[in-house]
Amino acid sequence: MRSAEFKRAAGLDPETELRHERFGALAYDFGTRRLSFVRRRADAVRSLADEFETGLRSPICLTWELTYACNLACVHCLSSSGRRDPRELSTAECMAVIDELERMQVFYVNIGGGEPTVRRDFWELVDYAVAHHVGVKFSTNGSRITAERAVKLAGSDYVDVQISLDGATAEVNDAIRGPGSYATAITAMERLADAGFEGFKLSVVITRENVSQLDEFKRIADRYRAQLRLTRLRPSGRGADVWDRLHPTAAQQRELYEWLLAHGEEVLTGDSFFHLSGYGTPLPGLNLCGAGRVVCLIDPVGDVYACPFVIHDEFRAGNVRAPGGFEGIWRHSELFAELRAPQSAGACASCELFDKCRGGCMAAKFFTGLPLDGPDPECVLGHGERLLAARGDAPVPKPSVDMSKRRVPAKACNESPLAVLRHP
Ligand code: SF4
Ligand code: SF4
Repeated sequence: MRSAEFKRAAGLDPETELRHERFGALAYDFGTRRLSFVRRRADAVRSLADEFETGLRSPICLTWELTYACNLACVHCLSSSGRRDPRELSTAECMAVIDELERMQVFYVNIGGGEPTVRRDFWELVDYAVAHHVGVKFSTNGSRITAERAVKLAGSDYVDVQISLDGATAEVNDAIRGPGSYATAITAMERLADAGFEGFKLSVVITRENVSQLDEFKRIADRYRAQLRLTRLRPSGRGADVWDRLHPTAAQQRELYEWLLAHGEEVLTGDSFFHLSGYGTPLPGLNLCGAGRVVCLIDPVGDVYACPFVIHDEFRAGNVRAPGGFEGIWRHSELFAELRAPQSAGACASCELFDKCRGGCMAAKFFTGLPLDGPDPECVLGHGERLLAARGDAPVPKPSVDMSKRRVPAKACNESPLAVLRHP
């Protein structure tokens, strides 16, 4: 069936972008920024999650970190960002990637970093992507959202903005993201709201320190006509250093689950709390680990990982500079083929909650040193906590990349000389 007929039959707006997939099609409306799934047959027996587990022609959620450079130094940064890597993709190489994404009908990319706006060519790349029908959602600490820029952003259907804030008060936020970062984010939101940008995202990583502020985050988002987006703290990048101290307690996870259930689809989560669905009614979303199946990451030097939270050689599928480019990696890499093959549920196989939680997040297990086919460290039945206690001080995998800015000691020899050797 031709696309126009397909859209008519499915009751879709003729302007909607369609990408045909094995099960039917994905439809993306750039105006509302909504993705929907169109089944080819109303009587299809496999669930969408089952269809997605075997992979898609192109990713739905492609994160692209444009640079490791950042003007902040958040304690939980998933990519351990700070300094630019001299090998980062050039403007021409980034444009070539965008050309590929257009050919693959990747509807939009989630651009992050580092702080992506510190790249001199950032706005040029955004304009290039938009001109090539690749929508852009970019995450920023807000420091470069001037009043003029906010007006331009408000005028584009193809660009969405996520302002990061990890505390509803300066005290809680700045302890995580650094002094002054709360005021910077609030100013950026004021500018976007004043420019008439409705529905931009207020993005919050949930921690032990801010779970009690959920209602206040919602009020802040509502005040600026933004949409609240909550994501899970994973032990990835510098997040590994603070995970024990900052990941929500079992009681807080229950509180978060109830709050998410009460707010339904009005609060976005990027499906990141599906491990909590074991508490009862499943949370909205696909409830599956999409690593290498519907999700992947392109890092600033062009390395492609199965997901933004697994920056480790074990999950590196290739580099966009190699022959075949990104498309070759997505469609033919051995790693992605393995991730799309049926997986063993291991120790979770006998759990009656498995259909809801599917054993949780691969990244959270990997960087806490737990088996990938066992329970999530935040398993709602407490199995993860018990495994972590039994693991004790055994070494855990370290991220392959660390571009954190290092403090240079006044006199290196007064501190550990080995520390200097470790970070030349
Ligand atoms: S590894 Fe975790 S964060 Fe990455 S796609 Fe899977 S569930 Fe999501
Ligand atoms: S044991 Fe596994 S499947 Fe069961 S709730 Fe825990 S993580 Fe989920």
